[in-house]
Amino acid sequence: MTVDSRHPETLVLHAGYRSDETTNAVAVPIYQTTSFQFDSTEHAENLFALKEFGNIYSRIMNPTNDALEQRIAALEGGVAALSVASGQAATMYAVTNLCRAGDNFVSSTDIYGGTWNLFANTLKDLGIEVRFVDPSDPENFRRVTDEKTRCYYAETLPNPKLNVFPIKEVADIGRAEGVPLIMDNTACPIICRPFDHGAAVVMYSTTKYIGGHGTSIGGMIVDGGNFDWEAHKERFPTLNEPDPSYHGAVWTEAVKPLGPIAYIIRARVVLLRDLGSPMSPFNAFQFIQGLETLPLRLRAHCENATKVADFLNSHPKVTNVIHPSLQSGELKRRADAYLSGGYGGLVGFELEGGRDAGRKFIDSLELFYHVANIGDARSLAIHPATTTHSQLSDEEQAATGVSPGYVRLSIGIEHIDDILADLKQALDAV
Ligand code: PLP
Repeated sequence: MTVDSRHPETLVLHAGYRSDETTNAVAVPIYQTTSFQFDSTEHAENLFALKEFGNIYSRIMNPTNDALEQRIAALEGGVAALSVASGQAATMYAVTNLCRAGDNFVSSTDIYGGTWNLFANTLKDLGIEVRFVDPSDPENFRRVTDEKTRCYYAETLPNPKLNVFPIKEVADIGRAEGVPLIMDNTACPIICRPFDHGAAVVMYSTTKYIGGHGTSIGGMIVDGGNFDWEAHKERFPTLNEPDPSYHGAVWTEAVKPLGPIAYIIRARVVLLRDLGSPMSPFNAFQFIQGLETLPLRLRAHCENATKVADFLNSHPKVTNVIHPSLQSGELKRRADAYLSGGYGGLVGFELEGGRDAGRKFIDSLELFYHVANIGDARSLAIHPATTTHSQLSDEEQAATGVSPGYVRLSIGIEHIDDILADLKQALDAV
């Protein structure tokens, strides 16, 4: 039995799992096992042939992961989800589930530096062309779309620019062209549901807010079940042509009786099977713990971040503060259209003294941790130009919004007085 609710506060505690069928355990058990015994040879055969759903081997599925996947799919309003070992793996699988060598896809320029590297270098080496476009004009996506374009890719609230992506505008263009929009919603769980605005696939680095404790690396792909892959057979050969690695299965047909889950099933039984980056059941358990308090934490992150943005905005040594609450015009319209309940927990700012001032500020912080992460319950800070974005050229850094003096803060859920006191003393030291 599962609980029927539309409220995130309820879904994160009850969706997909109520108690263990054999032990009645209320907390989701960690099924730390590689394999699952088959009832009979017929049962084994049915599972491998996908005539029946069930557990085979933990590289491909696991009951602990299944509870997390169902919970996040319910939270997003999607039909099914797939957990993987990291956010990077989630991005890799999300796009290569549709693209093969010789194909292309269109990506926003406003993306995480690691995703940029994957797209601009590793995927290029694999023969997949990524066409980067500036999302300030959604029509840029249409302009570079051709018959080999397999998807659009973007982040809801990309740091460092923190310009909310025009989800509906680009999703609408994609639907007219027959191209699905994949959204990296890592910075905005709870406050944005990209499926409500037309996205077809949502992915997460669960490492960030969903975990919240900063203990585990993980990723998630959620299938919206809202894109008609069969209506565009030629555009999506991976889903519409016989798969030689699976007895010639045509995924859109093979899983039709189970629902609109061709995309996520292929990611699981082909990509996860072959490329093998599963989330460990232990980490899935950790993310289940994090998920339980996600709505409460997001509220606190958002409230604190807005107060930090206001504080920095009135500080004489700060030349520029980046946070959706302070934006105006079209950027603010997008922030208000796509975020609800807050403007996220990330704040960027630039100091009068550029790179040297940025370094000095970070070295002076006492409460904030200096780490390459976001979304932890603790407050975090980093200087992207010399760390997360250092492998990008100066032009690439500028295109993603990283200036030499930019400092990124991920505001935690400590008491706001302590957060502001630490920022104040570090600014005094600059
Ligand atoms: N997407 C975004 C927006 C990120 O910030 C990150 C990591 O910082 C990733 C994806 C990659 O996630 P992971 O570190 O879990 O591989």
